[in-house]
Parts: sequence; C-alpha cells; structure tokens
Amino acid sequence: MATKKVGITGKYGVRYGRMIKERVIKATEGLTISHKCDACLRFSVNRVSAGIWQCGKCGRKFAGKAYKPA
Ligand SMILES: [Zn+2]
Repeated sequence: MATKKVGITGKYGVRYGRMIKERVIKATEGLTISHKCDACLRFSVNRVSAGIWQCGKCGRKFAGKAYKPA
C-alpha cells in the first residue's frame, strides 16, 4: 500500500532499507508527475509504458527513457 511516508515504495512493505526506498522514489518520481510536451509545450505528457510517452493534449507519442521522457 502506498502511503504518504513511503510513497511508491509502499508496495515493498517492510523489506529493503530506507536508502534504497529513497532511491526508488527519486528514480520513479517521473512516473507520477506530468512532463512538458515538446510539441505543444503543455505539461500533459504521461508514460504509456516503459520508454513510451504520450501527450494528453496533442496526442504526440514518442520514445523516451523508462522513467523520464527525455
Ligand atoms: Zn503535446
């Protein structure tokens, strides 16, 4: 369960250390926020799957990194 304290790493329960969880949060924070679209310049880019991103406004789909668009 994801809680405010552990964020996305809540799914790991009590396993793994705090430092590892903080690294996971940093690496995956791009998944939960919207990114800026290069085409329409609006913050509507969300991840479709690993490395694939799509803008919700103009529909532009492009390849990026697994956890960040560029
Ligand atoms: Zn766009």
